[in-house]
Amino acid sequence: MTERDPIPPADPRAGVLARRAEIDGAIGRVLDGGHYILGPEVEAFEREFAAYLGVPHVVGVASGTDALALALRACGIGSGDEVITVGHTAVATVAAIETVGAAPVLVDIDPETFTLDPERVEAALSPRVRALLPVHLYGHPAAMGALRSLAARHRLRLIEDCAQAHGATLDGIRAGALGDVAAFSFYPTKNLGAIGDGGAIATADAGFAEKARRLREYGWRERYVSETPGTNSRLDELQAAILRVGLRHLDEDNARRAAVARIYDAGLAGAGVVLPVTRAGCGHVYHQYVIRHAGRDGLRAELRAHGVGALIHYPVPVHLQPAYRGRLRIPGPLGHTEAAAATVLSLPMYPELGPERAHRVAAVVRERAGAVTG
Ligand SMILES: *Cc1c(COP(=O)(O)O)cnc(C)c1O
Repeated sequence: MTERDPIPPADPRAGVLARRAEIDGAIGRVLDGGHYILGPEVEAFEREFAAYLGVPHVVGVASGTDALALALRACGIGSGDEVITVGHTAVATVAAIETVGAAPVLVDIDPETFTLDPERVEAALSPRVRALLPVHLYGHPAAMGALRSLAARHRLRLIEDCAQAHGATLDGIRAGALGDVAAFSFYPTKNLGAIGDGGAIATADAGFAEKARRLREYGWRERYVSETPGTNSRLDELQAAILRVGLRHLDEDNARRAAVARIYDAGLAGAGVVLPVTRAGCGHVYHQYVIRHAGRDGLRAELRAHGVGALIHYPVPVHLQPAYRGRLRIPGPLGHTEAAAATVLSLPMYPELGPERAHRVAAVVRERAGAVTG
């Protein structure tokens, strides 16, 4: 890569190429083994990921969206129930709630961490609310301490959307071990990514795990005996074998993301952009490094013109999307949600970016941020 090559916002191929031999070995093992669905690789990955997270049970499924839906169903949430979440997230978070027949209720975010504001939850409660579904957005843990007390006080389930938070911690405990049930995505660009779709549920509750295990395969208690109506949401052996490789390198990859973040922090201090914060006790895994700028769209165009790819996560909050507009329950103002959508910009972030390109990104952002106004 030369000085002039554009820097992409993410580069999953770089991660694959860096571990090509290990991945080829994993794929070869599956091809030779002849077991292609729910076999020894899925079992081993579930065991290894559970150990990594510090939870007793992990259940591999077909995607992060499915993981959310099956986590909700494992908690018994369905038609007639409401689930409190945020509108500043991947649409999948809200879509999964509707998939199980429940109704999403959107609450505003804390503008510093971009995660569900616990202060807004109580005013959004109704007798139908059964669960809180915070998202550890961009790799920063949501305010789980306050959310846990709210959940306990109002007898709600606490379900974590960990799709952007593989390895993140709060007071030394991993995201995925902070609520009742957690959902992970292994979409290729996530901190732990497959080469295709994949997801997982993590829980300390043996009953929830057992339910999720049945639901992912036609509700089978044993083969061909459907105990409950289920679905097909299996993690395949190839993806599980590849995820085992990625898991071995996850901490090292997250450390390389954090090193990029430190370069951005230092290079952009005083540059006229709002930098991401990390709250006390939080281990941020920088799925994204998100800055804010009033002239975001102009800044993004300038960066593109100077070889720096930046993305917007997310440009339109869920309640303003055509599919959801006007039909979700929104008990309070969503001012911080809408302001975030108008000003956030995700700088290039992936483990293989490296210090040299990170310095180049910081220099370009610094130079252009001053020239663009809101
Ligand atoms: C990626 C993502 C999902 C959905 O995961 P898929 O594997 O694409 O279904 C859900 N929530 C958040 C916050 C995500 O980033």
